[in-house]
Amino acid sequence: MKFKIQKPRGTKDILPEEQKFWQYIFDKIEKYAKSYNFNRLETPIIEFKDLFTHSIGEGTDIVEKEMYEVSRFNKTLIEEDDKDQMVLRPEYTAGIIRAYIENGMQSLPQPVKLFSCGPVFRYDRPQKGRYRQFWQFNLEIISDASPLTDTLLILLIWQIFQDLGLKEDIVIDINSIGCKACKPKIKKKITEYYKKYLDIVCDSCKKRFVTNPLRLFDCKEEKCQKIIAGAPQIIDNLCSDCKKHFTQVLEYLDELNIPYDLNLKLVRGLDYYTRTTFEFRDLKDSGRQSSLGGGGRYDNLIESYGGRSTPAIGFAGGIERIVEKIKEKNLKISDQKGPDVYIIQIGEKAKRKALILLKSMGEKGITATCSFGKESLKAQLKEANKLKSRISLIIGQREALDNSVIIKDMEDATQETIDIKDLENILLKKLRNE
Ligand code: AMP
Repeated sequence: MKFKIQKPRGTKDILPEEQKFWQYIFDKIEKYAKSYNFNRLETPIIEFKDLFTHSIGEGTDIVEKEMYEVSRFNKTLIEEDDKDQMVLRPEYTAGIIRAYIENGMQSLPQPVKLFSCGPVFRYDRPQKGRYRQFWQFNLEIISDASPLTDTLLILLIWQIFQDLGLKEDIVIDINSIGCKACKPKIKKKITEYYKKYLDIVCDSCKKRFVTNPLRLFDCKEEKCQKIIAGAPQIIDNLCSDCKKHFTQVLEYLDELNIPYDLNLKLVRGLDYYTRTTFEFRDLKDSGRQSSLGGGGRYDNLIESYGGRSTPAIGFAGGIERIVEKIKEKNLKISDQKGPDVYIIQIGEKAKRKALILLKSMGEKGITATCSFGKESLKAQLKEANKLKSRISLIIGQREALDNSVIIKDMEDATQETIDIKDLENILLKKLRNE
């Protein structure tokens, strides 16, 4: 059978040589998440479609055209799951909240702080910084309504970006889009204003007018931009509680010296957002792919799923875009370490000894490797150099017979023959630089 050896459009192989960037980012996320007492939660990649339709909202790009539906080949097998359509998750929050409710996390000490990191899927037109499968790191603080919490979350993300070496490259856009009480009134004000321009606006805006009026502010078309400029400001129409909440968030950010830009048109498309919305944006990039991460409050989502009324706030950052940014900046990330030990073996007897050594080193936590398919000393030494192993062990035919091993320090090129029973001690000393 002939088939193309080709990855699906919009996906990426994260090659071994790229892993150092990913690891660098994961390590920072984990370090800060843990220091602020977030616990890791991972949810399934497949979930029921309704979970997202309900939270993200009809009329959003994600729900209308970007979700991947999951189908099974052998549909004659009827399982309970077949009753409802399943999708690949297009984002994390809905699944996290489902897990929070389903696993009774309401009875844990609140707030519950959760972090996650994994792939999400959206069918979009692929280009630089825009993939169909991409990784997000996700942070949620559930059951805390205080504006201090909004600031705390922004602080944590700010510290991650700072520690990644990207502080100078990002700007935080922030806005408030109101609560259950004032958001509908704001939407009404905006639609009243837009009514007189409906003949002029683009087709997408005509749809947004009906399905999701706040998203009218997201339009990048030049003709619509002029209309956006004259539209009523959300901030002028917030209720007094929302105004107070937002003012406090900004004051706390000022106190912490975290710079931000008020972006009064930042609405973030998803239906579940309330009050504070924010985005970490690449300063130098004004395009659609400039957002490195975004988040906001969603104080009514848990209640709308049938849970107890519980305020919450979350954030999702895009790992591929951060990797690209780090590469673009030429930040020096130290190379992945090679194995501690490379075992060179010559002859059948030596191969068996190597196998036993691999087993005992694995048990001691020493990273060790070997190429059983290679026979010559030269080829194996070359491999050890390429892999940047710290030490090579050589077992030739003679060593295999008299139970000895040559230990070669790959850094200073010194070597000695030792009894195999002394190997562990000598090796550990060398690895600890004693
Ligand atoms: P969103 O859930 O749309 O707010 O996205 C959160 C973050 O995920 C964005 O700020 C991006 O960094 C990243 N992101 C969103 N869509 C894509 C995509 N198609 N490809 C790569 N990264 C993305």
